[in-house]
Amino acid sequence: MKLLQEKILNDGRVSGNDILKVDNFLNHQLDIAFLNEIGKEFKNRFANEKIDKILTIEASGIAIASIASQHFGNVPVVFAKKVESKNLDKEVYETKVYSFTKGKEYSVKVSKRYLHEGENILILDDFLANGRAALGLKDLVDQANANVAGIGIVIEKGFQEGRSLLEKEGVKLESLAILKSIENGVITFK
Ligand code: 5GP
Repeated sequence: MKLLQEKILNDGRVSGNDILKVDNFLNHQLDIAFLNEIGKEFKNRFANEKIDKILTIEASGIAIASIASQHFGNVPVVFAKKVESKNLDKEVYETKVYSFTKGKEYSVKVSKRYLHEGENILILDDFLANGRAALGLKDLVDQANANVAGIGIVIEKGFQEGRSLLEKEGVKLESLAILKSIENGVITFK
């Protein structure tokens, strides 16, 4: 997606040789008009899939999924919780996700009320790196005996192993921008 590549080049900041910061439009401040274009593009990429629900993970996925939903006929958006909460139902689907950026494993949960057998679920997230978050979300869908209709990612770090792990699982994966490398502060796309 050309517009996204331009946005990354103009506004993205590289941290080290493997982290891209996009705080000013995606991860902290939100550019709503731009996120609307992202939502529209996800609809184009998954136009042939029947989508009953969108599943994402807090926190950054929520804005993306909410805006995208409006292009999928306002389907419900469910966000998996990674922050411990006393308010969460007792009956949950739960999986463990290792975060390389945080260097720790955390538990990700969705109430059984919000994922049902046979539903077609589109998984959306901001970044794909080593694929752990996306695989964790897929595991929650599998536990519910629902179907993964596809996985949509805003920015894929093509130099990490996420894509190959997800392709092994046989899911349709669409990334709106794929980074080839971000070495020495220089961003290149695939
Ligand atoms: P994975 O589970 O695929 O290894 O990593 C994906 C998750 O880690 C994303 O949900 C995102 O929150 C975070 N992440 C991984 N790499 C980056 C990065 O370069 N920049 C930002 N902003 N987040 C990242």
